[in-house]
Amino acid sequence: MTFINRLKDFAVKSPWLYRINGGSCNGCDVELATTACIPRYDVERLGCQYCGSPRHADIVLITGPLTRRVLDAARRVYDEIPDPKVTVAVGVCPISGGIFRESYAVCAPIDQYFPVDVNVPGCPPRPPAIIEGVAKAIAIWRQRL
Ligand code: SF4
Repeated sequence: MTFINRLKDFAVKSPWLYRINGGSCNGCDVELATTACIPRYDVERLGCQYCGSPRHADIVLITGPLTRRVLDAARRVYDEIPDPKVTVAVGVCPISGGIFRESYAVCAPIDQYFPVDVNVPGCPPRPPAIIEGVAKAIAIWRQRL
């Protein structure tokens, strides 16, 4: 394989990450921010990077218990992400509702609305757990290409 082909292969297999806040308390989002700017936990070590548009995204990380207020917007944004996409539920809130699970205002678990591929439990999950979840998501995404 030539050097140029290897570069193309790397570019094709380097996913963009996108984040949807489904009404989180921001605890999980602070931990996600750590994976964007603290070198020790930086997801760029895995060959991926956060992007600002759902239309560029390959892997979506969803935080929060999906409040009724954000449900429609979250579904619209999610639908803008092109296939094949991989969905990661970050924190216990999207998985089960967490501490908000009995609230009238939340729609969790999010797998009723989005096909979740990877769960990263914790309240909030530690950055190494998020990195592990992203690594699993990258492996799933590469299989889907
Ligand atoms: S899992 Fe915990 S830290 Fe994350 S959004 Fe829910 S309550 Fe906040």
